[in-house]
Amino acid sequence: MIQLHNLTSKAGPLSTLEVSDDAIIIDAHLLKTFRVCEEKYNYFEQKHWVPNAMSAAPAFGISMHEGIAGFRLAKRDGMKYPDAYQHGAKILLEAYKKNMPPDSTSEVAQDDKRSPQNALRIFTGHCEHYEPMGLKYPYVEVPFAMLLGQVPMAHGMVDVIYVGIIDAIIEWQAGLFVNDIKTTAWVLNQNWLDGFQMDQGMIGYTVAARELLGIDTSRALIHAIWVSTPAKTAKGKKLDDYFHTKELYWDESQLNEWRQNTLNTIQDIETRKVDGKWSLAYNEDCNSFGMCPYRPVCSSPPAAREQLLTMDFHKAIWTPLEDERLQKIEG
Ligand code: SF4
Repeated sequence: MIQLHNLTSKAGPLSTLEVSDDAIIIDAHLLKTFRVCEEKYNYFEQKHWVPNAMSAAPAFGISMHEGIAGFRLAKRDGMKYPDAYQHGAKILLEAYKKNMPPDSTSEVAQDDKRSPQNALRIFTGHCEHYEPMGLKYPYVEVPFAMLLGQVPMAHGMVDVIYVGIIDAIIEWQAGLFVNDIKTTAWVLNQNWLDGFQMDQGMIGYTVAARELLGIDTSRALIHAIWVSTPAKTAKGKKLDDYFHTKELYWDESQLNEWRQNTLNTIQDIETRKVDGKWSLAYNEDCNSFGMCPYRPVCSSPPAAREQLLTMDFHKAIWTPLEDERLQKIEG
């Protein structure tokens, strides 16, 4: 048996979960990767190939999350707005220095949308946008590990542990909501926001908040942040328009469906691990968000791929239980 901290605060573990040594640990990112493309999952999670050229986008998102979490924790602990804002801003800039990959220097030049100056500008806008709404933050940044169920394997039933980090539980207008912050450089529109109703990560956080924190809620709030430079003309978007809130709701049957569906996908992953028949997507996912990082590899003849991987990628391990966002890479 191994012990996992199934709820962890900044101060340390709040409680632990005993799981068998062969338990399958899964998170939203790995599930999403497999559902996008089996071969992508194979390269990333099985073979541990990670591109050498790192994008500035994840590091920017991590820094924004850390700054906002610092602001919220300060507010929760009774600090007044101006001091809480200063506290969060300091954390944001420190996180930016720590997380921004050095090889993205050109991407984060002074006038770029992901520069530290612009990060601070957007963070300021975020604080000012939500402050008049009187939000309260009973929980901020809660890493969790939840026993989801079991799947059949050749040697018997195996526990499945779902892990993640809940950004916050927000109290708003006498209701409790599971909250997640999403940063994007794509223009925010209603269709994009509505899409979070089918976001398996959000449903997972809601299930975890109910089961582990005992929060009686079926509702979530997306706080979406548009990452952009200041408008060049007076007709352009004002800073306050960079922030959108989307309310989501799932009933009990939908939350149960999510759990069973997640277990089904995990079984599919385990089947692939045994038979090794990882399918290539051959679809728009190869081009999504600029381009799948493995596209140059997949578009080459199979015999040439190993050499391409060795040249443009390095080996790194995804560690979903680390108290880090997105990915923690170990060489
Ligand atoms: S390029 Fe396409 S087929 Fe290859 S890993 Fe990416 S999504 Fe899958």
